[in-house]
Amino acid sequence: MKNNIYFFQVNFEIGFGKFKTHWLPYAVAKIWSNAKTHDDINNAWQTKDFIFQRLPIDKLDEYIVNPTVVAFSCYIWNWNYNLQAAKKIKELYPNCTIIFGGPQVTEDPVRLAKFYETHSYVDYTFHGEAEVSFVNFLRYLDSKIDQLPCGITCSGYYENTSGERVADLATLASPFIDGTMDSIVAKHSDKNFSVTLETNRGCPYACTFCDWGSLTFNKVKNFPMEIVKQEIEWISRNSIKFVDVSDANFGIMKNRDFNILKYMIELKNQYGYPETYSFNWQKNSTDKTLEMVEFLTNNNSARGFTLSAQSMSENVLTNIKRRNLGINNFSDLLNKCNINNIQTYTELILGLPGETLQSWKQGKANLLAAGQHNNIEVWLCQLLENAELNSIESLDEHKIEYVPIRNYISGEHSEDIIEGIYVIKATDTLTHDELIECYLYSWMITNFHSFGWTQIISRWLNTTQNVEYRSFYDSLFKFVNRNEFFKELISQVNENIRDAFEIGLVKGSGLHYYIAEYQKILHQNRDKVFEQLNEFIKEYEYDIHTDVITFTENFITYHGCDSVKTIEIETPIWEIINNIETDSKSNTYKFYMNDIPKDKAEYYDSFYFRRRKGWGKYNVERIN
Ligand code: SF4
Repeated sequence: MKNNIYFFQVNFEIGFGKFKTHWLPYAVAKIWSNAKTHDDINNAWQTKDFIFQRLPIDKLDEYIVNPTVVAFSCYIWNWNYNLQAAKKIKELYPNCTIIFGGPQVTEDPVRLAKFYETHSYVDYTFHGEAEVSFVNFLRYLDSKIDQLPCGITCSGYYENTSGERVADLATLASPFIDGTMDSIVAKHSDKNFSVTLETNRGCPYACTFCDWGSLTFNKVKNFPMEIVKQEIEWISRNSIKFVDVSDANFGIMKNRDFNILKYMIELKNQYGYPETYSFNWQKNSTDKTLEMVEFLTNNNSARGFTLSAQSMSENVLTNIKRRNLGINNFSDLLNKCNINNIQTYTELILGLPGETLQSWKQGKANLLAAGQHNNIEVWLCQLLENAELNSIESLDEHKIEYVPIRNYISGEHSEDIIEGIYVIKATDTLTHDELIECYLYSWMITNFHSFGWTQIISRWLNTTQNVEYRSFYDSLFKFVNRNEFFKELISQVNENIRDAFEIGLVKGSGLHYYIAEYQKILHQNRDKVFEQLNEFIKEYEYDIHTDVITFTENFITYHGCDSVKTIEIETPIWEIINNIETDSKSNTYKFYMNDIPKDKAEYYDSFYFRRRKGWGKYNVERIN
């Protein structure tokens, strides 16, 4: 009789309304696909189930029967669940071997020792890529190997955390091709799925906030093109809705990556799926990357092009061992995107060592000046378990203060077992009050500039009268904090973010959803918002052409608006704010937006789900 293995890679159901999907358990499916290609393993072991949903702990006995090994894939979104599930299974089956792997398992021997002291129901922990070590581990359990394989630790044995990299990715079997994913999907045919796709592994960079462990600062290895293509075909054929391409730097392989992209779109056009591919674009993007994003945009498949920054402060970038594109190249890429209606977004991390209140605000202004008008996404700095930033030395050096915050990531709110992460609340260069002010300033920029309310106005002032973005938004920040209507909104955000740090719990749907929530309120009070902004312009005596206001009022969509319209104005506003020369006296613009949902809830949910695509604003095209 074969021994039973159960794999857990649980996650939340993601999305709202029609955007809801479950994640297929790719990492553990990949591990098993590889293991079962070995005859000795296949003859002695069998998988009983891949658990990807957060099943009730008190009902686990209905799902887990006579396990020999239960393997958990661990990350920030399932750590607390996994601990409770593992404890319960050990109570039910004391002889069962429980193993934990994944990026959330610490590689630090001191922390590992503490972990085993307090979690005696976990027998082994895996570190690094697990496909090969898992095979050897089963042989170890079968007494075919004497020593614990590389990259596996247990109570009292904490130094063995360096797993070897898989030498040749071509040797690993694919769960999409060998039928593993088919059996999971067939068993849950009532569900929609999202999935991870890897076309390569490894990253040449070494950002200190990153927890990709052994795969960072390391050679990028490709999966064979033939395998990647077959996996893409499986994804399209099986109507997978959302695909996260997990490559750290998509585009870095230039022609190879472009060929992959073309194949994705060819299959998407043939099958209608997936609805969305999400990419971590090459860190320092080039014109070739831009060409790829343009191709996606022309095929209506772009989700928003990431031009990562993480911080605009040179001091911070040195501290986190990162080099961004020079500001001129960055600006050049952004301007090309803006002119071609390619939606971009830039990610910043708040609380990185060396950031100050001034460098943060100036960094936001510099991003706007460089041309980032679509979306600046702000994350609080998380201390990921195996990130260099989370080492004792780094925490001491930068006097980092941190707290655990539960429900940080959206979508967790309905669960009994809430997941949490450690988030930086202050450093030696940023007090906690300053960090809150940075967050509120960012909230204002996103809600007013990125979503369009003050974007045309500030860009007009900047290009025609040299009004610096910093000066404009510092003034708006003061105004928002004293204007009766806006003050009510920003005070709620202030209270919620402070509460999150104080009680360690984000209320509602997660921190990122806050922004969308308030954009919803601004849209529901459209006339009021314009009225208040008019007050602001008067108070600061900004010299604004009436065409700028007309343009702005037409730029912002609303529920029930037309998907296409034209306006004719005297002033070539679009060309002026984009620094394009024109002497035209008559200016007709087409405003268009694809795919505006008729359903009100879906329209408002899109502020969150399509924010990176510039949701809430029309695309603009000159037609004379
Ligand atoms: S953050 Fe991205 S670019 Fe930086 S080390 Fe991690 S995977 Fe590489």
